[in-house]
Amino acid sequence: MTLVQLGPPSLRRQSRQVLVGDVPVGGNAPVSVQSMTTTLTSDVDATLQQIAELTAAGCQIVRVAVPSQDDADALARIAKRATIPVIADIHFQPKYVFAAIDAGCAAVRVNPGNIRQFDDKVREIASAAGDAGVPIRIGVNAGSLDKRLLEKYGKATPDALVESALWECSLFEEHGFRDIKISVKHHDPVVMIDAYRKLAARCDYPLHLGVTEAGPRFQGTIKSSVAFGVLLAAGIGDTIRVSLSAPPVEEVKVGAQILESLGLRPRRLEIVSCPSCGRAQVDVYKLAEEVTAAFDGFPVPLRVAVMGCVVNGPGEAREADLGVSSGNGKGQIFVRGEVIRTVPESKIVETLIEEAMNRDWSTN
Ligand code: SF4
Repeated sequence: MTLVQLGPPSLRRQSRQVLVGDVPVGGNAPVSVQSMTTTLTSDVDATLQQIAELTAAGCQIVRVAVPSQDDADALARIAKRATIPVIADIHFQPKYVFAAIDAGCAAVRVNPGNIRQFDDKVREIASAAGDAGVPIRIGVNAGSLDKRLLEKYGKATPDALVESALWECSLFEEHGFRDIKISVKHHDPVVMIDAYRKLAARCDYPLHLGVTEAGPRFQGTIKSSVAFGVLLAAGIGDTIRVSLSAPPVEEVKVGAQILESLGLRPRRLEIVSCPSCGRAQVDVYKLAEEVTAAFDGFPVPLRVAVMGCVVNGPGEAREADLGVSSGNGKGQIFVRGEVIRTVPESKIVETLIEEAMNRDWSTN
């Protein structure tokens, strides 16, 4: 097995840049977070409502599925009213690709291998997308790998995924179209990591990272975090989508947290909380949950320390913007390194929030 080499994110792979609406992907652009709506795309109001929720959670690009004419007909209203770029996700139906371009979608996800049987459609799509400045994502998934490659490799190996992606690209390249980004997704992070590493070495297209069918929230979060962490730390990856069998807002939160943890996106809220132990003099789990919930959506970035006793408590609390070190049924409240008061345990959360609200965090 090939071992994954870690490297600092500063050694970022140099990819060409595509513009998805007003969001640059690739080159030196910040890594962006994507998700996909779960509503019927033809239900314009429900889809726009979900897009608004995703945007509020930190989503920068959203994809909508277009399996029917009704969905294609809804695209113009969605693309016009969404505040983030909308990508139309299309399989097998070239007419929906043209509809998406005409509707003002910021990009289209379509695999030309699926539509080359339709006369000259790949050339026509390349031409229409090129004229409109609409990039295309080629998305190779283990579950829908071309039969020819399945026969050649026996299963969806990293080499099979890469060969499939580059072949799909070649179908557009022969018409002079290179406004492309690529994904090569697999449910197994080890296969996925290897596939992206190989693909990164074979082309300069921007890469959309994803562990497909990653599973329910806990497992999917772990799989995506591990795979994206390895790749992004090696400078590979230009945009990410965490796939969870959970509401898409959760995907966005996880994606944003992965980027924040790697220092690829400014931190918003960071809770520094101890794991508790036999010395704890407060219910640290409960307190950490309550503080996290109370600060959710706080408008400025903050680091808040929640510590269970005086062993490491004062040290961590002092280093944070706000902190509490608990003991004897009380909490010592720290603000920027100074103890400002001691309150009963029942008042810890409200005191932290009160202190956060009453200060100007824009100054040091
Ligand atoms: Fe245990 Fe105190 Fe450390 Fe929390 S801060 S893990 S309670 S020693």
